[in-house]
Formats: sequence, structure tokens, C-alpha cells
Amino acid sequence: MIEFESIILNNSQFKELCREEINSNAFLFETTDKVFLTNFSYCFAKFLLCERENKPCGICESCKKVSLLSHSDLIIYPQTHKNILVEDIKNLIDNIYLAPLESNKKVFILNNFSSSTIQAQNKLLKILEEPPKNTYIILNVTNTNKVLPTVLSRCKKIRLVPLSDNEISLAISNFDNKNKIIEIASGNLTNAISYSSDKNFIKIYNNCLKTLQEMSDSKLLIKYSSMLLEKKEDINIILIIFESFFRDILLIRLKKEELTKNKEILNYLKEISSEYTSSSVDLIIKKIYDIEKQLEYNCNATFLVDNLLLYILEVKYLCKKE
Ligand SMILES: [Zn+2]
Repeated sequence: MIEFESIILNNSQFKELCREEINSNAFLFETTDKVFLTNFSYCFAKFLLCERENKPCGICESCKKVSLLSHSDLIIYPQTHKNILVEDIKNLIDNIYLAPLESNKKVFILNNFSSSTIQAQNKLLKILEEPPKNTYIILNVTNTNKVLPTVLSRCKKIRLVPLSDNEISLAISNFDNKNKIIEIASGNLTNAISYSSDKNFIKIYNNCLKTLQEMSDSKLLIKYSSMLLEKKEDINIILIIFESFFRDILLIRLKKEELTKNKEILNYLKEISSEYTSSSVDLIIKKIYDIEKQLEYNCNATFLVDNLLLYILEVKYLCKKE
């Protein structure tokens, strides 16, 4: 089923795409927001396959079937594994030359395409060079750097812009602490859903704030580090929350308060901001990026959190001396 369909159908970027003339058979959609990405492409398939005016009409047989992802002319890959394999592309090539079954078009969606093998991408290239009439190939990509330039150059590329806070709000309307989730998710639907279903989100959020308010001495570092990191997998969300807080602290220091995200705790962040200079906050944000990178190389989570807290303390100490 298409998730969050009504949000995507009303999304300004989606509407704009549907107004444009379709002059390509291959599309590449890019964003790191996987839930938004997949469902955006399903909605676009609905538009392509719709049989009436004002596409996607939402009422024709074709629209109804695409909404349920049960249209026989909409084929979605990968079919067996997590990533696209050469077998998937072979299957696509066998399929693309067969006539459509219930409409006059065929749409192929390739999810997770940036994780596909080079062999699979090369195999797809031949079809992209000369796609049969009335067939459309949609590549969903989280990172274009992992896509062959020859593939990229044959697609109409569309980078999806993050959703608005309003759109995220509609997606998670039934959850407690909605505003805090919206602030931290900053337009990323995948993250917003993951925070809403994580019972620990609010606890971690409050602990991050508490750490910034109270931690004043390196002797207390272990206490705050173990309070923050109860489970190793929480490190991702801890980093995202700290990054969001420090961005706002930086904006406060730069007297651009109107641009801050975390409005519910703005007064606390203002108090905290008095302990830092703007250049030192900038350093902390860079440190968070560094740690996010180290995390990709499977560095120890406890070590990384300790490291971040120690860095924050050092920076704060230097600011005091200035
Ligand atoms: Zn329709």
C-alpha cells in the first residue's frame, strides 16, 4: 500500500512534477529519506498509469490498484533480496518488451538502487539507452555518488526536498510529543516515524537537554555518558538531537532566533547559549559530524559519546577563559 499518499499527492514538488510534460522514460529520484522516496515514486507511478484527466484521479481502476500496489503493469524491484541484483535487471529486461496487461503503459520501480551492484547498473544501461515506447523506469536513490555516471546521464534527475513541518505533522498526527519529534526530524519522514515509534525518544531528548544544562565538570562525564547511552543503538538519535540543539544555540548566538527549530525549549537553549561563543558552537557541530563519520566505521558507541561530552566540556571551559 502507498503510505502517506495524501501527503505526497498534495506535496508541491510532486504537483509540479505532474504538471510538467513527460519527456523522459527514465527518472531518478534522490533523497536520504527512504519512506518519502519510495512512496513518492509509487505516487508518481499512479500518475503515469492513471486512465483519466487530472492525473492521478484517484478513482479509476488503475489508480485504485496502484494505491494497493497490485497493478500488474507496475513492477517493483528488488524482488527477492534487499538490494537490486543482476537477476532483477534480467527479469526487468525480459518483462519490459512484453505488452502491458491492463493499461497502455508499464512502470518499473527500482528501490534502493544506490546499493545495487555495478554489474546490475551496467546491465540496466542498455535498456536506458533505448527504452521501449510507453515504458518508464524509476530509480530510487539515496546517494547519487553510488550510481554510475552513464546511468545518471540517461535519467531525468529530481532531488526531493525535505517535507515541511506541516506535512510531517500530518504524518504523525496521533503521537504524543509531536512537536518535539517534528523539530528534531527536520523534514525527514523516515526519522519522524522512527522517533514516534521509539518509546525512548523523549527520554533521550530530555537527557540530552539535561546534560547540556548540568554537566559542568569532567568528573561528571561518566555519569552523564551512561545516563545518555543506555543502549548502544541510541547513539544515532543522541547525535541528531545534540546537532539540532547546537544548531539552535548557534542561531541564538548569531541573533537569528526566528530561525531556530526547538521552540518548545528555546528558553533553556538561550540560557545554555550564554556559555558558548558562536565559533565554539561551530566547532562542536563539526565534532558531531566527525563522530557520525566514525560511527560508519563501527567505532565503539560509548567511546564516541564520552569523546563528544569531553569535547563539549573543553570548549565550554575555553569559552569561560576568553
Ligand atoms: Zn486515475
